[in-house]
Amino acid sequence: MDKKSVVLPNIPSKLCDIAALRQQLDAIERNEKSNINGNISLEKIKKQCDMLQKETMDKLFLTTQKQLDAQKSKEFIIKRTKEIHEVMQAINNTELVDVCFLLDCTSSMQKYIDEVKDRILETVKLLKTRFSFLNIRLAFVGYRDLDLSEEEQFSILDFTDENEFYTFISTVVCKNGGDACEDVLGGLQRTINLNWQQPVRILIHIADGPSHGRRYHDLADVCDYYLSHDDNGAIGYRLIHELVELGVRYFFGRLAHHTDKMIEQFTTYTEGRMTIEQIDVGDFKNLLPFIVDTITHSISRATVSLLKNYPVLEENPPGTHNTSKSSIQRSIVFDEKEPIWANIPPKQVKVIKYECNANLRCKEVIQSLTLKVADNPFAEGALRLAYYGSMLFKGQWGKFVLKEYKSVTNGENTKEKYLEMLDCQTVADYLAQEFNKLSPINNSTAMIKKIKFIMTKLVFMPQGGEGKFRYYTMERFIEGAYKKFSNNIGYVNYQDPALTLQAFSHWTYERTNGEMIVVDLQGIDIGDHQTYLLTDPCIHATDLKRFGRTNLGKAGMKRFFQTHVCNIICHALKLKRNKYQLDEAPIKWDSYFVNKWKSTLFTSVAKK
Ligand SMILES: [Zn+2]
Repeated sequence: MDKKSVVLPNIPSKLCDIAALRQQLDAIERNEKSNINGNISLEKIKKQCDMLQKETMDKLFLTTQKQLDAQKSKEFIIKRTKEIHEVMQAINNTELVDVCFLLDCTSSMQKYIDEVKDRILETVKLLKTRFSFLNIRLAFVGYRDLDLSEEEQFSILDFTDENEFYTFISTVVCKNGGDACEDVLGGLQRTINLNWQQPVRILIHIADGPSHGRRYHDLADVCDYYLSHDDNGAIGYRLIHELVELGVRYFFGRLAHHTDKMIEQFTTYTEGRMTIEQIDVGDFKNLLPFIVDTITHSISRATVSLLKNYPVLEENPPGTHNTSKSSIQRSIVFDEKEPIWANIPPKQVKVIKYECNANLRCKEVIQSLTLKVADNPFAEGALRLAYYGSMLFKGQWGKFVLKEYKSVTNGENTKEKYLEMLDCQTVADYLAQEFNKLSPINNSTAMIKKIKFIMTKLVFMPQGGEGKFRYYTMERFIEGAYKKFSNNIGYVNYQDPALTLQAFSHWTYERTNGEMIVVDLQGIDIGDHQTYLLTDPCIHATDLKRFGRTNLGKAGMKRFFQTHVCNIICHALKLKRNKYQLDEAPIKWDSYFVNKWKSTLFTSVAKK
């Protein structure tokens, strides 16, 4: 080969071109071993060849990596969408409700039966506005006294729709009961015989007289013609247990103190497996709100316990899932008292906090803090344990709470989960700060309270070997009565509708152009300062990769609007109606309930 004819070939772009170039190179090398000039150009080609090969390989690797990432992300979104669909399905199932009215049908009770009749259609309509997937079936068991024929003693209608129920109850007539006691146990037996089917089962029992039998009342002997009825309690015990087995929630509308001993007995029979919730119906105006709240409460509780189980599922590998307390992998000793801080050595720890920008993106800020943490937790929630903590800041020790997930995996997953929580709170607080600065169009400013989210940091507590950490979240310790105002699936606390908070959720949706909504609002209402101090919010976002598993995406947003009724603050802020919102008729009803029904009985609903 003539050395002068060596020309650098065109720049190859593919691996096969490079291989060809190599071949060419080898040929030149063989032919021109002794030629120095040739070797110089040879070196040149060699270098170029090496460089090109590296570049091409890098490019290939990058493309593959990008494709892999995109594939991973796609798979994740498919998985999350499927999970969300399942959660929504399960939630909708909690709105399948069987309600049985068990009523004493002796003469004094006619006005209560009439009240149920007059209000039932309106009640069901109202409930349907609160629960968009509500499928409610109603049944009726009226009981009178012993020693009548079956037809005379009982009026029974098995589960059916509200219209048939209305027709039936219109025919029920109360009759004189003779003595003061009635056949309550007979009524319970007929109730158990009904065709209970739906997942949420509610028994609403209203009576002014106790069951026959000495063990069920303190009335004079002459008031009970069957004093020895259910002498040893065996009948009552069996009936209550059958109700427990059926998973029925028992609510008793109390009209007189004569029934107290009976309910006490029934409660003993439950052996702690069921709570009989008692409420004074007294003035019968309370009856409809009692029914609405009972059903609302039962559905909310069912959804809450369902949501509690979902994150647990995630924390356990498939097949080992167990929702009972025994699944906690270490034994926990609680210490409710604040520790003696002098006995606890301070530790230097690394913490991460988040800072949010106007695009609602967060960045990590790393700090170093001096911290003391109690050895044992003082309380536990569904998923986390809470510990007393103390932090040194500007020479002063301040009180904090540290929270740790119960299942101890402490891997990267756990850290991710804590960071998702930080992301969520930081974004929620950023939005709250913007919300607090809004000036509404009219003079409703006085009604709007301020909103603040308690900021959380992630603490890396060194543990065991090098680079191993125990993770905690840390937040200021705040004393006060904790309240749940809403959850992440459209539950609203109707006893304390907290107008500002409902409007805030609606506003966050508009502020983010429908990309996010901040929900699951809970915390402390600092009345004096007109401020809500909130913690642990959830954010539904169109980006399913943020904010963890409580982010139910568009399905969650839809769920919010289905139960959201725009209030005076929404109107003052000129918030737009969402297509999923119902008409505004329920406002009338809701104010009716809020005004007439201030019982605190159900305020403990739905604590996470
Ligand atoms: Zn609104």
